[in-house]
Amino acid sequence: MTITWDWLVQKNFRLNDANLHPTVRQKAWDAIFALWQQGIYVLIAQGYRSIAEQNDLYAQGRTKPGKIVTNARGGQSYHNYGLAIDFALYTKDGKDVTWDDSSAEWKQVVQVFKSKGFAWGGDFRTFKDTPHFEMTFGYRYSQLQSGQVPARPTAAVVIPEPTKVASNACSIVVNGAKLDASGILRDGVSYLPVRAVGNAAGVTVGFANGKVMLGTSVLQTTLVIGDTGYAQGREIAQVLGYVIDWDQNTRTVTLTKGKR
Ligand SMILES: [Zn+2]
Repeated sequence: MTITWDWLVQKNFRLNDANLHPTVRQKAWDAIFALWQQGIYVLIAQGYRSIAEQNDLYAQGRTKPGKIVTNARGGQSYHNYGLAIDFALYTKDGKDVTWDDSSAEWKQVVQVFKSKGFAWGGDFRTFKDTPHFEMTFGYRYSQLQSGQVPARPTAAVVIPEPTKVASNACSIVVNGAKLDASGILRDGVSYLPVRAVGNAAGVTVGFANGKVMLGTSVLQTTLVIGDTGYAQGREIAQVLGYVIDWDQNTRTVTLTKGKR
């Protein structure tokens, strides 16, 4: 299974938290998207943390069981101001997450997030924190503690979207002349507008009992969209006695009179 973008967006719901600074959210989405395109699947495992949650975390390994995971008391972490996030990586099948910070993928994540303006916890001089990214906007936590707040952009956070699959239209060339009308691809099968192709081939097109006729033949593969009747390119070619060809690069159906 390849991880879809929609799946990854859902898993990263923590980035929708309005307590996170909008620029942090936006740049994180941009980075996660760029990495997804490279086949690297980032999970934001931590985002905003309240002061109480931070104090709880600080107690771990000190007054509470467990291993020490932070040197920051409540108010001393950029997480408390919505300016930091921690990540993990999904395995390729999406069934597991890993914190293996020695992998090539991990290093790639760091590089991409840095390129988006994040500082990386792995660069900290004391307490290396390799899953951690932050944007301080030049504020020390002591300034943030005293109530100073980095400016927030007013623009909405936009989750990137993969480019929609190119339209399913295809071009048509009949006897060397490109038609103004276009055809449609459905499940890899071309459907061509019968009237436009008939006109170009000099063959009459008519309707009989809801069926489309090309010359004297009733077409069997008709598809009516709006007020245009289509039929499969292969059937049209057969009825006309034409050779049909498909060019994947230009997405063009070519119909040519005569010999094969
Ligand atoms: Zn962190």
